[in-house]
Amino acid sequence: MKVKEEEIEAIVKKVLSNLNHEIKVSKCEDVGIFQDMNEAIRAAKDAQKKLRNLSMESREKIIQNIRKKIMENKKILAEMGVSETGMGKVEHKIIKHELVALKTPGTEDIVTTAWSGDKGLTLVEMGPFGVIGAITPSTNPSETVLCNSIGMIAAGNSVVFNPHPGAVNVSNYAVKLVNEAVMEAGGPENLAVSVEKPTLETGNVMFKSADVSLLVATGGPGVVTSVLSSGKRAIGAGAGNPPVVVDETADIKKAAKDIVDGATFDNNLPCIAEKEVVSVDKITDELIYYMQQNGCYKIEGEEIEKLIELVLENKNGRTSLNRKWVGKDAHLILKAIGIDADESIRCIIFEAEKDNPLVVEELMMPILGVVRAKNIDDAIMIAAELEHGNRHSAHMHSKNVDNLTKFGKIIDTAIFVKNAPSYAALGYGGEGYCTFTIASRTGEGLTSARTFTKSRRCVLADGLSIR
Ligand code: NAD
Repeated sequence: MKVKEEEIEAIVKKVLSNLNHEIKVSKCEDVGIFQDMNEAIRAAKDAQKKLRNLSMESREKIIQNIRKKIMENKKILAEMGVSETGMGKVEHKIIKHELVALKTPGTEDIVTTAWSGDKGLTLVEMGPFGVIGAITPSTNPSETVLCNSIGMIAAGNSVVFNPHPGAVNVSNYAVKLVNEAVMEAGGPENLAVSVEKPTLETGNVMFKSADVSLLVATGGPGVVTSVLSSGKRAIGAGAGNPPVVVDETADIKKAAKDIVDGATFDNNLPCIAEKEVVSVDKITDELIYYMQQNGCYKIEGEEIEKLIELVLENKNGRTSLNRKWVGKDAHLILKAIGIDADESIRCIIFEAEKDNPLVVEELMMPILGVVRAKNIDDAIMIAAELEHGNRHSAHMHSKNVDNLTKFGKIIDTAIFVKNAPSYAALGYGGEGYCTFTIASRTGEGLTSARTFTKSRRCVLADGLSIR
């Protein structure tokens, strides 16, 4: 891709000047980036046919090389992501890329179920769909491209991306890295492809193409609804507004730190991050005190009104985000409402009623409203209301198993983290694998290679039962 190459080069140079020199910079040839969506789909179709002829061992070799390439380029990708989108934090985006490289399941996720007996042998194999069409967000742009690529290729598919236009350079850089890794490992070019200028129109071409068998959308409600209306099989990883509940049995000091750590990770961009706190009245003052001890600045009265004016917009009677402030540092947001806070301030907090727009909206900014509840039942009801039925993520700090169970049942989310920062759900400080596509809307939950397969029953009658 010719566009903005000088820009990428400048960022790469800047990053390298701050790094040790062991980093291997990818040459990132133009492989995989097309001007026309139909051409991209054709190329991905050819590539998938070639992948089908490779052994599982070769597939795994490809995946290993993609992991290596991500590790070599994690700092550049993080720097490019922040620079292009103006959102998030470089040090956290580096961690996100490490998680993708090291904790996204590969071919080991593809397993066979077998029955054998007097009537023969039956297998259920996880087969590829073919060409997958993937929509990726601006909030975790290259993380999602790379995570999807690992899972989808490990499952035997090729993938066509229509990345977020606001993150096209870093997303397409990631696509080129995938191709470079695949080809170095002896695989075909164009297992991951994208277009130079992704638009809603190129997205629609992808949705309608007969050569695309599965759509995977990671983004807000608009795009998830679009893929679900496409008439094709679709996986929808949509919006959340994760509440975190704190009851009187929690370790309040630890809860405060965990909540602030989770909510400020990449400046609150992850869809799983704590977006509002609901705490029982008895411990709320103590919780707020410890949140302040952990880099939070508490605003009150008119300051809250000013913050609403700044970060929310009203378009045709509907509240929406002022994108200018998404993923920005807390001290910059505070400055914009006339508060000169130190750079060490990483989160803005305030006490609010449950209908405060800053609590109701999914902000994706380091801003946390704290809603006081009468007791745990009240807290659970408020939190469930604020999650808006997205069934995405919710978190809780408590040592009471009954309370944890009650909330877990009622909230019914794909992710429910207890007594840890939200990012424990991504395998960072918690067990389990990583993904940046959490299929909340369609119920697959945390996606991995097996999510991108179809079930195929393979029956041999009256034979190969050799017990
Ligand atoms: P967004 O919805 O603005 O954009 C996502 C992608 O969809 C972009 O590529 C965009 O160009 C495209 N798009 C939007 N409307 C479309 C349409 N009608 N047809 C075709 N393409 C369309 O998302 P964003 O602001 O980049 O990301 C933030 C949102 O995504 C938040 O709501 C967040 O919760 C959600 N998200 C969810 C997950 C998850 O795994 N569930 C992960 C990351 C982000």
